[in-house]
Amino acid sequence: MDRILAELADQQKIQDMIASHAPFMDILAEVTKMVARKMPDATVTFMLYDPADDTLSLVAGEGLSETYRTAMQRVKIGPEVATCGKAAFTRKAVITRDITAAPNWTAYRDSALKENLMSCWSVPVMVAGSELLGTFATYHPTPGQPSEDQLVLIMRAAGLVAFALTRQQDQRALRIQSQRYQSLFTYHPDAVFELDLNGCFVAANHGSENIAGFAEKNILGLHFQQFIKAEHHNVAQQAFEEARKGTPQNYEVVAYSINGEEYLVAVTNLPIIVDNEVVGVYGIAKDITRQRESELKLHVQRTHDLLTGLANRAGFEARLAEDLPLAKGRVAVLLINLDGFSSINDGLGHTVGDHLLQAVANRLVDGLEPGDFLARFAGDEYGVLLTDRARVENALPLVERLLSLLARPFVIDEHVLHVSASIGVAMGQVSSRDASALIQNAHMAVREAKAQGRNTWEWYAGDVDSTVREHIELRRELLEAVEHDQLVLYYQPLVDAHTGKMKALEALVRWQHPERGMVPPGDFIPLAERTGQIIDLDRWVLWRACQDLQSINADREVPLTVAVNISPVHFRRNGFFDEVKQALEESGLNPEHLELEVTEGLMMAGSEKAIELLQNVRNLGVKVAIDDFGTGFSSLSYLRQLPINKVKIDRSFIQDIASGRENAAIVEGIITMAHHLGLEVVAEGIETPEQRNDLAQRRCDILQGFYFSRPVPLAELLELPQQLPAVEGSCT
Ligand code: C2E
Ligand code: CA
Ligand code: CA
Repeated sequence: MDRILAELADQQKIQDMIASHAPFMDILAEVTKMVARKMPDATVTFMLYDPADDTLSLVAGEGLSETYRTAMQRVKIGPEVATCGKAAFTRKAVITRDITAAPNWTAYRDSALKENLMSCWSVPVMVAGSELLGTFATYHPTPGQPSEDQLVLIMRAAGLVAFALTRQQDQRALRIQSQRYQSLFTYHPDAVFELDLNGCFVAANHGSENIAGFAEKNILGLHFQQFIKAEHHNVAQQAFEEARKGTPQNYEVVAYSINGEEYLVAVTNLPIIVDNEVVGVYGIAKDITRQRESELKLHVQRTHDLLTGLANRAGFEARLAEDLPLAKGRVAVLLINLDGFSSINDGLGHTVGDHLLQAVANRLVDGLEPGDFLARFAGDEYGVLLTDRARVENALPLVERLLSLLARPFVIDEHVLHVSASIGVAMGQVSSRDASALIQNAHMAVREAKAQGRNTWEWYAGDVDSTVREHIELRRELLEAVEHDQLVLYYQPLVDAHTGKMKALEALVRWQHPERGMVPPGDFIPLAERTGQIIDLDRWVLWRACQDLQSINADREVPLTVAVNISPVHFRRNGFFDEVKQALEESGLNPEHLELEVTEGLMMAGSEKAIELLQNVRNLGVKVAIDDFGTGFSSLSYLRQLPINKVKIDRSFIQDIASGRENAAIVEGIITMAHHLGLEVVAEGIETPEQRNDLAQRRCDILQGFYFSRPVPLAELLELPQQLPAVEGSCT
């Protein structure tokens, strides 16, 4: 009875140890002791099975030598491997009555006999009757076999070991699982937190503190909205509610840190579901401020030109692709390519080149309006996108303005640089063309413009409206006009204010248009200036005027001077000086009898070069007059620096000189000052005898106007009397 009670007590103790998760080795020791108490002469062993290599290793075996223990590590199981190896292999109890005689002990017999082991009784330790965990065995110093009780005891011990082992494994698996999730929560670098169903914090990890600076203890019980910028409350609330209904959500909001700093977070809300019921919401918030910043920076780099800060081609294309579907009407793409940029870049160096490109960008910005989109494509190419309807309709005047803006000299690092541009224009019908085709068309137009001799624009011949077409046609026709002798020179006399004698003639160009008739210069000179065609035109006028005057003067006692208008565009061209010389040489006209009329605007920009050029012209003997004086910006004192002979007071001052006192004062001032500087003064636009008298009294030297004669063809001019109506009572 005592024995049974003791046995029960032993088993109870072991089961308690298993239940309280005592360490496995302690439990094993207890099981071994329980068996040893019953079989005092036995050596009790447990070998652990490793399915990885199908071996057994001795774990418990009190009294065995170190040598034996070592020999019993990683013993491959098999049908003939001693007692335990066989028990493990067959998954059955194996009894070896006499180790000295057993054939399956051949390999281990000597080791066993050294330990005084003569018999061995082994049972497999298994879970659920199939999974092998090891073997439990007793060794005895005498040959023999177990009684039934003894065998039951060994099997029960094996059962207890199996139980302890599986519980321990269960326990470990559970611990691993729970701690794994705990680690995920604790060590996650993002803010991970748990909200209750009202949206208040229930838990928060270290990440929350790292990102926002709020320790868990300080935010528990607070509502998540307290950390989110007001504008984003709706987004966050909606996401929270969706998550609470069971659907995970992702969104971005601006949050506040403990310092009140704003930062951008990407938030994930996940429902916490327990037994099919949402009991709360998990939040994971990642600080994406930096990431977004660098994305933005990258985007800016990808879409912008570092040199000018403008959009680059990619940016332009993106904008175009974006705007095209939104545009109500058409859009226009202007492609601006500088002429002769590479020679500046190569000749003066890249720094100057870069500065020029920046200056060009600034000038273009000045020429555009806020809604226009400007980009720098590669190198010396810029793009403009017009989407506003009124802007698109006025694309051509804009193009012409940009051309003349760019034609003005640039002062870059002490160099005065002259560039012009070729502009290609393409228009996009919202429906019909995609973005890249539009740019392609503009490119084609630029090439065309370059082929036209630069400083000009070309229109991609797509669908264009009537005013545009007219403009384009006029330009083409003007080209023909120069080539096909449709230009005619008219002459208007300039008269000595006191004697009434004809002193000079101003050459004024007319266009004998095959259909339109006589086209006045006001209708085509500005256009020709913008397109660069003025150069050919002026060159022709200069040549023709020299020829005409030479032939007139041949028959005259007192020779006449001819005044030729020179457009600033022409004047600035390289080779202008040579052209003047050539025209004089070819005609044989005395240089003294040629006068160039230039405008004040010319002097304003790039003055040094202009002055030098004027001086060269003067050195030839040619005279120079400032035309339209008073309309520009030049001050009178500025005249002092210019190598000129004459000023022509603009017609607008003359027109109301009788009525406007202010104008009279200005005219008076100009005359006095000019005389002071040794310059002659011409008044143009004299239409009435009053104006003539007035100007003559104010000591103006020369008069010109319809009052004396309109501009007329050469033949008609030769018919005019040499003495034109001078001031009444004045001497002849
Ligand atoms: P501009 O150089 O000021 O020429 C004088 C203009 O005033 C001429 O107009 C002439 O017909 C006009 N005019 C002369 N007297 C009177 C008058 O008493 N009353 C009024 N109302 N007008 C008068 P036009 O011939 O139409 O020329 C206009 C402008 O075209 C010229 O102004 C000049 O800037 C430009 N232009 C004319 N021919 C040439 C040329 O061969 N080359 C260049 N580059 N420009 C030219
Ligand atoms: Ca003139
Ligand atoms: Ca004038």
